Amino acid sequence: MMEQPDKERTTFEYLTKRLEGKKDSYGMLMKEVVKSGVCTHCSACTAVCDVLEWVDNQPKLVGKCTGCGICYNQCPRTITVPEDLIGRYKAAYIGKTLIPEMVGKGQDGGITTSLLLYLMDKGLIDGAIVTTRDEKWNATPAFVKDRGELIKAAGSVYVHSQTVKALFDAIKSGNHAVAFVGTPCNIDAIAKMENSPYGMMLYNLRNQIFKIGLFCMDSFAPETLYGFFRREGIDLENISKMDISKGQFHLYDMEGNRIKSYKIRALNKYKSSSCNFCMDLTSEHADVSIGSVGSPDGYNTILCRSAFGDLVLKDAAEHGYIEIKEASDKDLGAVIRLAKMKKQSLYNVNVRTQYVFTPPASEAPGEATAEAPVETTATPAIPFLAKKLKLKKPKLTNKRNNLKFTLANDSGYIMEDLDIKIAVTEDIFEKSAWHAKIAGLYPYESMVFDYPVNVGEVETSTLEIMVEVRNPTEPLLSEKISIQKLIDKANKRKNKK
Ligand code: SF4
Ligand code: SF4
Ligand code: SF4
Repeated sequence: MMEQPDKERTTFEYLTKRLEGKKDSYGMLMKEVVKSGVCTHCSACTAVCDVLEWVDNQPKLVGKCTGCGICYNQCPRTITVPEDLIGRYKAAYIGKTLIPEMVGKGQDGGITTSLLLYLMDKGLIDGAIVTTRDEKWNATPAFVKDRGELIKAAGSVYVHSQTVKALFDAIKSGNHAVAFVGTPCNIDAIAKMENSPYGMMLYNLRNQIFKIGLFCMDSFAPETLYGFFRREGIDLENISKMDISKGQFHLYDMEGNRIKSYKIRALNKYKSSSCNFCMDLTSEHADVSIGSVGSPDGYNTILCRSAFGDLVLKDAAEHGYIEIKEASDKDLGAVIRLAKMKKQSLYNVNVRTQYVFTPPASEAPGEATAEAPVETTATPAIPFLAKKLKLKKPKLTNKRNNLKFTLANDSGYIMEDLDIKIAVTEDIFEKSAWHAKIAGLYPYESMVFDYPVNVGEVETSTLEIMVEVRNPTEPLLSEKISIQKLIDKANKRKNKK
């Protein structure tokens, strides 16, 4: 006899109860999927909820939303299951080093170096691939066979490191049991070389690579990030440590004092371009993954994925190298939330990419005009684009010498072949127009402009900056920014404090 379906389990109420306490919602669906332009118009969300209807080619709320998150959990574009967010693992721990020379050294709990020391001391590996750095903070991959060198190499460098080449050099020199420490992307390279039918590692059975993957949210392009630090007056040769915690990038002097912190968001533009397309926070293909997210200060979060990884970790704890305890749901919740942010960020083009335009000083008002060297192609116009190009956040920066503002494409369509003009207007005169041609501005992408106006030197009451954008067939934006209004606003804010 055919079994009857469990009625209770097929109801909206049953699912609502199961999802209770999760923070998924209609708002998230709109922000992450619909507004970011990745909605497939499948209508699954509207199929399951009485207060959602398909209106104007998107799901629309037509009644009171309870925030149950059922719509979010049906959508093919959301990632909602922990395993899809942080990969499979056998056990999760919080831990810290017990090795006296390591305490206070390295990053957070010092688990990575402690594990390597354990593997080395017990003769389980010939050596380890780690990333060291020179005095200018250039990443240098190294094959390390010595305790002292390992401890010296502790700590993170937030730029790409060519670790796989170092691993192959070590193998070619006759080393076969090697621990490999790397970011998720580097671990992926090894995993592919081991598992793909065309992978180079697959054909050498003597190679045993123990993969220790680091949690990684971003890496930076050294040529831009370090250039920024230099402009900030920071001499990298006097920096002993960099770390990222709670959304901030910290720099420490040689005495270990934190001397500078930057919001990660502010450093986004210095991110390595590959990191914009990366969805793996926790090194899902490693034997053991280690990071700081989810654990208290001075500890690491550890995910043991392979049986051998779990064994090594427990043995290292038994032999007094590290202290570990099982991670709680709350600890892992933080990892899952960040992993979700990383997977979703692939959709959020506006957050992920920003062009920054700063006309050179020689092209400041009163000087020659400039044209950005960007190739263009003509495209037919989409009529409603005009209302969707937004000028946002105008403010005076750099001691009122610059006007900073953002042009954001909120249309959901690519805007192509843009002609942008910025000019100073005083009374009825227009001066020093600065032109740029932009081939394409993607949906929800924005451009930040930093335009020199030198307010200090001119009468501001009638000074306005005109911003005009058009494509080959239609005007998209024409706005004037009153400098006096910005000054008044800034003064008002200052007086309030
Ligand atoms: S009530 Fe409907 S719209 Fe609101 S979260 Fe639940 S399923 Fe989504
Ligand atoms: S379920 Fe997701 S992809 Fe499908 S229509 Fe709703 S928002 Fe779009
Ligand atoms: S964000 Fe991704 S691509 Fe960038 S360094 Fe980390 S793992 Fe590699």
